[in-house]
Amino acid sequence: MSDTQKIWLDGEIVDKADAKISVFDHGLLYGDGIFEGIRIYSGRVFRLTEHIERLFDSAKALLLKLPWSVEEVCQATVDTVKANNLTDGYIRLVITRGTGGLGLNPYLCETPSMFIIAANIQLYPEENYANGLDLITCSTRRPTPASLSPQVKSLNYLNNVMAKIECIQSGVMEGIMLNEQGYVAECTGDNVFVIKNGIIYTPPVSDGSLDGITRRVIFELCENAGLTLLEKSMTRYDIYVADEAFLTGTAAEVIPFVKLDQREIGNGKPGAVSKQLVEAFRELANSEGTPCV
Ligand code: PMP
Repeated sequence: MSDTQKIWLDGEIVDKADAKISVFDHGLLYGDGIFEGIRIYSGRVFRLTEHIERLFDSAKALLLKLPWSVEEVCQATVDTVKANNLTDGYIRLVITRGTGGLGLNPYLCETPSMFIIAANIQLYPEENYANGLDLITCSTRRPTPASLSPQVKSLNYLNNVMAKIECIQSGVMEGIMLNEQGYVAECTGDNVFVIKNGIIYTPPVSDGSLDGITRRVIFELCENAGLTLLEKSMTRYDIYVADEAFLTGTAAEVIPFVKLDQREIGNGKPGAVSKQLVEAFRELANSEGTPCV
């Protein structure tokens, strides 16, 4: 993005060069904060309220008291997109605990800070949507819900970063993360689906995945298309023997994957159901949302 990029920071739209937060902010010192990633399609913000409501749930889980309402955060998000003249792109909304001392105590932090970045995005090359991704299984596990709930989109993403490093070192762009019991949880930044004998399966979020908003859209699309979608605990076996597989995420959208650990899934090409859902998602995403132009 150019130097003219505008950032929403604590109630003001400022130039990128002036968008600064304190080195004493606990978001930086301890990863004490939360975020959302949201998409803009054809001049509309996709599922804006759902994202902001999930953000508020994350805040509540961390006892992070927000001085803004859901409506105010939605408006700030729309204002940021308008200030950057974007009709298609990605929004990163971050809330930090705010500035405090050099100790963990969040009660000593003054007020939370919020900043909103709106930018262009292309996570995966277009050819991967047509030909599918290769994945590995990461040895880094998804943390157990007995520690921080996987539902909290916190600024503590190091576990996922470690798994992403494994992917990059293996020459792939995404990887499967298992939970402590060895069941499939999700990917480093995406939810996982497989298709076997015409039925679509995804792990329940209780197996350690984020309740992804794109994941929720797949439930709607399957219902509308008369496709059967079931939540089922899965091991890698279920992926190895699947006919088709795909990932979902705000940045990734819906994208097929055709290999796991160098094993071909199905015939090693994106299948008909995955392709149908990639298209159905694109159509839906470009036909609804909160106006932002
Ligand atoms: N899992 C993780 C760990 C994520 O960070 C994300 C968001 N990038 C997802 C799944 C997908 O969620 P959503 O569809 O809401 O973007």
